[in-house]
Amino acid sequence: MLTPTCLLTISLLAQSATAAPIFRFETGEFWLNLHHFLYVLGRAEAKTTDSARQAVAGAPADEASGLAGLTDDERTRWREAVHFYASGLSRKDLIFDDPLPAETSALADARDAPTLAAANLDGALRTTLERVAPLYRRVWWPAHRAANNAWQTSTQALVDRYGRAVLAFITRAYMMEWPAGGYPVHVAAYANWAGAYSTSGNLLVVSSLDPGTNGAEGLETVFHEGMHQWDTPVNDLLWAHADAIGKRVAPNLSHAMIFFTAGEAVRHVLPDHVPSAEALGVWGRGWTRLRAALEETWKPYLDGRGTRDAALDALVKLTAIEKSRPR
Ligand SMILES: [Zn+2]
Repeated sequence: MLTPTCLLTISLLAQSATAAPIFRFETGEFWLNLHHFLYVLGRAEAKTTDSARQAVAGAPADEASGLAGLTDDERTRWREAVHFYASGLSRKDLIFDDPLPAETSALADARDAPTLAAANLDGALRTTLERVAPLYRRVWWPAHRAANNAWQTSTQALVDRYGRAVLAFITRAYMMEWPAGGYPVHVAAYANWAGAYSTSGNLLVVSSLDPGTNGAEGLETVFHEGMHQWDTPVNDLLWAHADAIGKRVAPNLSHAMIFFTAGEAVRHVLPDHVPSAEALGVWGRGWTRLRAALEETWKPYLDGRGTRDAALDALVKLTAIEKSRPR
């Protein structure tokens, strides 16, 4: 028999279950925002081809409007910082190249501290950031922080309304677990050319100024980045199926699965949603074959037919490549 105490306990448990966050959005991380702004401007100075992408293309104009209000000395100091990035960190990839994931995590941890004295950072990087911090705080940070807060408000509203259903869709499909306390998502005015990324150490960063990460696309994006934290176990599964037929997993297959599944999950709750892969033209970047295979093998499974492993097996068989190609 259930006593009043039991009922109270059950009710409290139910409340805590519904209150567990799926994401924890961090919008006031001053150092993380400064670091990404300089990183993106450094790539523009280094003329990397991805500097023209929508998520980062507006950064130089944003920089120029702020520079107009600085003294000559301040402008020089700022440009030296951008050049420091352009000749070093901005030539590396935020996701794959050390020491960026660790340094970015250290800067996220520093939040809005007055200095970086407590951060575990390369000395030259720390000096560079601290030299321009007063300029960034005065000139760009108010607008960047406001954009972060606006993004958080609108995305949190979508997560509150649809997040549970989207999460249930993707965890059921992948048969993998989401962390009980959700993922921290670090919101920055600029992130990288893609507008968002996920790397080691549960580091998820999303741009608040990129139109491609706002509204329903923002909802899809945060789940997409969280799903990247399953990359290792998913690739292990795919490789097990490929090994069984003596072949290799097609490049980008696990990433194509994320685009496809996150897009379908959001469309499940918002039928008019155009998945990011379609909106951004991702399939057209050499992934047409992967998309066709996903439609044929993974979509029926997402619609409730068959098992995950049978779907993965069929997907790998359709897309796998030979271990060694004849010359
Ligand atoms: Zn991705």
